[in-house]
Amino acid sequence: MTRALTLAEIAAGLQGYDPQALRASDVGAFLERLVAPVAETEALGLFEALGRVLAQDVISPIHVPPHDNSAMDGYALDGRQLLPDQALTLRVVGKVLAGQAWTGPVHAGECVKIMTGAPMPAGLDTVVPQEFTTAGTDGITVPAGVLSAGDNRRFQGEDLRQGAVALSKGELLTPAALGLAASMGLKTVPVFRRLRVAYFSTGDEILSLGEAAREGAVYDSNRYTVFGLLTRLGVQVIDLGVVPDTPARLEAAFLAAAQQADAIITSGGVSVGEADHTRTLMKQLGDVTFWRIAMRPGRPMAVGRIRAERIPALSASRADTASATSYQNESNPSPAGAILFGLPGNPVAVMVTFLAFVRPALLRMMGCTRAAPPLLRAISTEPIRKKPGRTEYQRGRVTTAADGTLQVATTGNQGSGVLSSMVQANGLIVLHHDQNTVAPGDAVDVMLLDAVM
Ligand code: AMP
Ligand code: MG
Repeated sequence: MTRALTLAEIAAGLQGYDPQALRASDVGAFLERLVAPVAETEALGLFEALGRVLAQDVISPIHVPPHDNSAMDGYALDGRQLLPDQALTLRVVGKVLAGQAWTGPVHAGECVKIMTGAPMPAGLDTVVPQEFTTAGTDGITVPAGVLSAGDNRRFQGEDLRQGAVALSKGELLTPAALGLAASMGLKTVPVFRRLRVAYFSTGDEILSLGEAAREGAVYDSNRYTVFGLLTRLGVQVIDLGVVPDTPARLEAAFLAAAQQADAIITSGGVSVGEADHTRTLMKQLGDVTFWRIAMRPGRPMAVGRIRAERIPALSASRADTASATSYQNESNPSPAGAILFGLPGNPVAVMVTFLAFVRPALLRMMGCTRAAPPLLRAISTEPIRKKPGRTEYQRGRVTTAADGTLQVATTGNQGSGVLSSMVQANGLIVLHHDQNTVAPGDAVDVMLLDAVM
């Protein structure tokens, strides 16, 4: 494996990179260089593999379907007997059900009753559906003009050819992919191990659920949205709670996270004006850079790597070490440390930065090579104020207009702390960096939330 790039090396390789005025559209390129797929793989039974990422190409060991077969319930015949303007009467010499094979001969003027999925008898290439035929004393009659040679026959290997790549490394195992793997007779598939992501909320004003409300404090909502977003992504989540703005507590949380997890997501404490210790600790514990992204909501964000080992000098210099929470983290030590995504504190900013930046980066760490879901185009039913020079994500509700076109309207208060408008939204309207105010009737890009969470 090649050595991981330092943040300075990544920055040097990106044209026009400015951490203080980063375009939202440039974040992806940085993160793509920062993160790499996990190395370890495992073989999993299909029921365990849903949502996991294939670690190797899967070659089909067989043809699927394994034999030419009927696509209909009807009668199998030799299509050369069909004439353009003439009905065809055929004697029925037997019956073949799905799972059986017809071994007897079928002569000219004869046909075999066949069920959907049953193998085509040798020499027959066409199936007339039951409902097209009329039954008489001489057999069945196919009217003129209802059937062409080759109709209603499925070919051996028309789904998968033996020896061909059926599923590719980096593919997310969807319900359809599980079914395809099963159709090849595979009991297990090779997948990347599950990604482990630790998260905690920071801030002295943040209350855990169950704590009594107090003046100036708010309940922690970010841990719940982050939990939901991560769980939908299919990673293993490691919840480290709410961590107060105390150096020893923060250090213990970062270490616990870096030792157990591949990635760490924090919320709060990354904006420039912060009087807290979060930024300082992040810098001391790893290779971390702080961004101001030209976007709304969002803006401040920290990214980098957090080391997994304690820095003795740092801890010894502090009197509050003894009060640090100790975390049990003996399982799965990750000596290389973990990727840090330090998100802003505002609840909607957390969700937007996660969906815009963190999710694609985590998918890459999971080994997934699938392209991001396409943005929809929808007609805005209202004006949306927008200044060029930053990317804006507005919470919106996409509906289908009477004429079938997609339309979108914002869902009320767009404050970066207002989660209720996020709950009402089914999409994020993406107003790009150079885009100006939107007029009613203008088309806008929308990230459909059902596709990403
Ligand atoms: P910060 O980025 O730390 O300045 O936080 C910005 C705003 O988000 C402040 O109003 C915080 O109180 C709020 N906030 C930070 N963390 C959380 C959280 N976990 N849950 C709810 N609100 C939060
Ligand atoms: Mg704060």
